[in-house]
Parts: sequence; C-alpha cells; structure tokens
Amino acid sequence: MLIVQKYGGTSVGNLERIQNVARRVAETRRQGHDVVVVVSAIGGETDRLLKLGADMIQHGSPRGSQQREMDVLVSTGEQVSAALLSMALHDLGVEACSLMGHQVRIVTDAAHTKARIASIDATKLRAVLDSGKVAVVPGFQGVGPSGDITTLGRGGSDTTAVALAAATQADVCEIYTDVDGVFTADPNVVKTARKIDRISFEEMLELASLGAKVLQIRSVELAMKNRVPLHVRSSFHSGEGTWVTDEEKNMESVVVTGVAADRNEVKVTVRSLPDNPGMVAKLFEPLAEANVSVDMIIQNVAEDRTTDLTFTVNATDLDRTVEIVEGLKADLGATEILSDDRVAKVSVVGLGMRTHAGVASKVFRILANEGVNIAAISTSEIKVSVLIHSKYSELALRALHEGFGLAG
Ligand code: ADP
Ligand code: ASP
Ligand code: MG
Repeated sequence: MLIVQKYGGTSVGNLERIQNVARRVAETRRQGHDVVVVVSAIGGETDRLLKLGADMIQHGSPRGSQQREMDVLVSTGEQVSAALLSMALHDLGVEACSLMGHQVRIVTDAAHTKARIASIDATKLRAVLDSGKVAVVPGFQGVGPSGDITTLGRGGSDTTAVALAAATQADVCEIYTDVDGVFTADPNVVKTARKIDRISFEEMLELASLGAKVLQIRSVELAMKNRVPLHVRSSFHSGEGTWVTDEEKNMESVVVTGVAADRNEVKVTVRSLPDNPGMVAKLFEPLAEANVSVDMIIQNVAEDRTTDLTFTVNATDLDRTVEIVEGLKADLGATEILSDDRVAKVSVVGLGMRTHAGVASKVFRILANEGVNIAAISTSEIKVSVLIHSKYSELALRALHEGFGLAG
C-alpha cells in the first residue's frame, strides 16, 4: 500500500516526539508499505514566526511584497520539522529524503499567505519511493507561478497531505493529531464530546468551515473531490480514529452529528446604504477582488430608502476590509462603517437535517433558555449557524451539544 501520513504541530512538538513519529513511520515501512510523510512546524512555531514578521512590519498590515516575505518566513517552520524527521529516520536505519514544496513541485496560485494548490507533479515523489526511501515533505508550503514560496493558510499541512495522497493515488491519507479523531464538539472545550467513528465528507466540510479546526476545510474539499480515504487519528496511540468517507446508508439516522464554534470572524456594518440596485455589488466586488471572503450577510428592510448592511469576514481580513469599505463610503453614500470582533459563530451540523424539520427552532429555543441573544442566522441543507456575542460561545456550544443529545 501507499500511505500518506501527516503529523501536526503537537505531534512533532519536540525532538522526542519527532523520534516517536520516526518510530511510527519505521513501523509502517517494516510492514512493507510505501510512505509519504507530511509534517507541520513544531507546535507554536508558526505563531512565533508570524509574530516576528508582524513586529518587523512597521507600516500597516502585511500586503503585496510584504506578504511574499511573510511566506518565506513562515514556511521555514515546516522545513525544520522535515529535516529533523528525516534525520531521526536515518538514525533508525530507515532511508528517507526530505523534499521541499518546490522540489516536489507543489504548484499554487500567487495568493500569498492563503495560496491554493493548482497542480502537483508526482514524478519526483514516485522516484524517491521507488528507490525505497520514505519521502518527507513539509506541509503548508508550495511554489507560486513565478517560482516564489507560498503558504496555504493556517492548518494548510492537512491540505498538503490530502493533495499528495490524491496526486500519488495513495490508498489512505492518515492525519495524525493530538486528539483521538473527529468529535461531536471540540473535546478541549466540551468535556462530554464523543469520538465519531465515521463521518461523511459533507458533514466534515461543514464542521471544518464552521470552526472545527481538526481538518483544514480545503483538505476536506480535496479529499471529497478526489475520493481520498481520510483517517483522522491520534499520534499518541494506535487506536482507530475517525474515517471521513462518502455518505453511507445509516448516517442519516442522527439529526445533528456535531457542533462547532468559530471565533475568528468579525462583523462589519455599513450604515445607511441607499436602497438602490447595484449598491451591494459595488460593495462586495472590490472585496472579492482583494481576496476577502465574506461569510454571513444580513440586509435590513429599507426604511426611508436607506438600509443597514451587516456582514462577517475572517478576522485576518478585517483591516483590509475596513480600508476598502471606508474608501467606498463616499461613493456608496453610506454614513458610517462599524466593526465588532466580539462575535462568535456557533453551528449545528448533521445530514439528518435534510429529513427532519424543526432543528433551527430547537437551536433558538436552547439559546433562548440560556439567555443568549442572536445577531444573525444562516442555514444550509445540513447546518444551522447563529452569530452571538463571543463571551457566550462556550456556553452556547455546551448547551447545544447537550440539547441535541450528543453528550457521551
Ligand atoms: P494539528 O496540529 O495536529 O494539525 P490542530 O490543532 O490543527 O492539530 O487540530 C486539532 C485540534 O482541533 C484539537 O486539539 C481540538 O482542540 C480541535 N478541534 C476542534 N473541533 C474539533 C472536533 N470536532 N473534533 C476534534 N478536534 C476538534
Ligand atoms: N504550521 C501551520 C499552521 O500552524 C500549518 C499546519 O500546521 O497545518 O497553521
Ligand atoms: Mg491542524
């Protein structure tokens, strides 16, 4: 078999843990499998590098050429892990070879700090595997169209792993992390959360995009598109984790599979926008051009021919968003731009919602009983999300987890 194994930041947290990873990889080799290992930076290292960069940049938030250098800076974290793991493997007598993103040729677009993988050339990886070596690839990094180093956004090593699994047609992509698998809620927040044995790609996609950072959303998208069997499991023991798979027959029996919270969004309100055709397009087109993705949008009913429009964006895009919208204010005829980062989006997810009515109203009732006010709502076929004050985020998560009978 060809197995892609990805080890996250905690799993490669220090030299001893990297040696543990090496032993696991050696064991997989001993069983006769080909192995591609993807590693994250040592836990906390990416944050440290990001802070170093931010402290160096004196004038505003990083953009343009500064973002290019940020990628050069933060991609080093993964490079360190890849070299150390290859050394630890050599030490165990296992032949291994580290290959950086540009050496593999993980080609991305040019969107520095959140690049998307455009293509992967598996030739070099294959050659390394065929020569009997373990290929060790740093996660999170790629090479842009003009040869510059790019990074794939926070949590991007998951996506590197799945993309390599797809490119090499691996039999399985194993995501080794610091929890036992995918849980009904973040087990570090909700103590009664239970491990899910099997979850559909659709549900995992929603949970990942709604704040369950156990898998980066793009990794789930890629796995779903390329039908890569994904196994999320603990790097500390060999027990089974969670399989992320195509939908199976009995999966719809539960209405709600999991709950998630996202505290990385901020709310932006544009006051007194004239209620004319084309206004919303005028507002959102420049944001899209600047690569800012907008999540929830609420437009109030117009009174006196003006309307307030509220939307949410990722916190990392706040400065850019406010600058763009402030620049448009006069042209749009809006009176004021407000932003609020004390918000959290709390969501319930489940395939069973397709066939069960009343999930949204139950969410509202559970939150009402806790005295939590709802600022915005959005729903899809298999999820209900509400925007609330961030100070209630954990309370709401626990109440919903309990209220939908997920507690173990
Ligand atoms: P890694 O460094 O291995 O990539 P991450 O920190 O990115 O690990 O993701 C694992 C973390 O995701 C867990 O420690 C847990 O706190 C968090 N998490 C959030 N929601 C969930 C969930 N539903 N199931 C499992 N873990 C979750
Ligand atoms: N090291 C990067 C991060 O912390 C990528 C990853 O670990 O997946 O976001
Ligand atoms: Mg991660």
